[in-house]
Amino acid sequence: MASDINSRTRKRPPELRELALRLQSAGDASVPLLVLRQPDFERIAWRDGKRAARRMEMRTTHAFSSAARRALRNGDLTAHDRGSDLFVVAMASPARRTDVPSPIDCRAVLERIAAAMSLETELPIETGWTVIRTLPETDLRAEIERALDRGIADRERYEFLSAIGHELRTPLTSIRGYLETLLEDDLEAKTMQRFLQIARREAMRMGRLIDGMFLFSLLDLSAGALLGSACDVSAQIEAACEVVRPLARRRGVRVRHAACDGAVAQVDADACLQLLVNLIENAIKYGAAGGTVQVSCAISGRDVAIAVDDDGPGIAPAERETIFGLRVRGSRSGDRPGTGIGLAIVKMIAERAGGCIRAGESPLGGARFEASLPLKADSRARLS
Ligand code: ADP
Repeated sequence: MASDINSRTRKRPPELRELALRLQSAGDASVPLLVLRQPDFERIAWRDGKRAARRMEMRTTHAFSSAARRALRNGDLTAHDRGSDLFVVAMASPARRTDVPSPIDCRAVLERIAAAMSLETELPIETGWTVIRTLPETDLRAEIERALDRGIADRERYEFLSAIGHELRTPLTSIRGYLETLLEDDLEAKTMQRFLQIARREAMRMGRLIDGMFLFSLLDLSAGALLGSACDVSAQIEAACEVVRPLARRRGVRVRHAACDGAVAQVDADACLQLLVNLIENAIKYGAAGGTVQVSCAISGRDVAIAVDDDGPGIAPAERETIFGLRVRGSRSGDRPGTGIGLAIVKMIAERAGGCIRAGESPLGGARFEASLPLKADSRARLS
């Protein structure tokens, strides 16, 4: 019955079923659940045969057990089912009841075990963690999925923030360079003016980057948060048009939109608004000055289909898939300022909600961005 953390003679971690029983017998407590996944077993089995995959599993299991023994306390539990790509740790040691592990502790333990497994196999390990209640009704499999989903979201967030951090250095270096030249050199008034303008432009660019960063960190992009809630898409279109009104006025652009009754999408209202604002703002920014932007919405099967059309230069056909990448800018952006963050956020919101986003050609002559968001289940029933 004991896990390998308690019994040092045991070679293999117990099965997941056993871990579930041990947790239930521990009474009601909140316990961090750490999950590690070796995604390559299947590929190895397919490419090199079942035996090779089995050998790889044994090596990974051995690395998991020894690293866990070093990183965990007595009473913490581990589990792995033979043939599965999942390795699980429950930080259930009674000693932790008074000394509850912080998120940093959980992540540190997870990274330590993952590093040991990855070093042994030279293959990347996926990780994630969550906190579970040790109640009989706790569905351990669902919690494992939740931990892995959260791990993906954490990694995306980390990559995003480190990319932004890197981007912030460029304008900062440029501002510093111009200010130092202004302070140290004897320059003509005209040159001074030009340098100050450049420094101001770069400072504004930094501001936009920081705005994007805050926006991203404020959005709770975990799958659970987006799937749990729903919103009326027409109301969000209305709200988004309000938000972009000052920009539309400045560029003399008319934003037309039509309502779509009963279009309740399974996505959080803030996230939906963000998606719409990013698309409509782009349509105004890249569309023709004094032109038209059209926002439409329709129910299409099990989805709400939203289209934002403009009359600008459009997106070059070769860029219609890559344009959603983080910090990617299109070849037709001209001198419009931008950071390449907005569409990456749009894609993340649409996909996290179980939908998708496409770029294409608009009947207005410019770009068409089409987002599909899943209709909320009960509104689907009502409409059919
Ligand atoms: P940003 O506009 O800040 O550069 P986005 O991620 O919102 O960042 O957009 C990425 C790129 O996609 C833009 O730089 C631009 O080249 C292109 N793009 C987005 N929307 C449009 C549009 N409506 N028309 C033409 N190009 C667009």
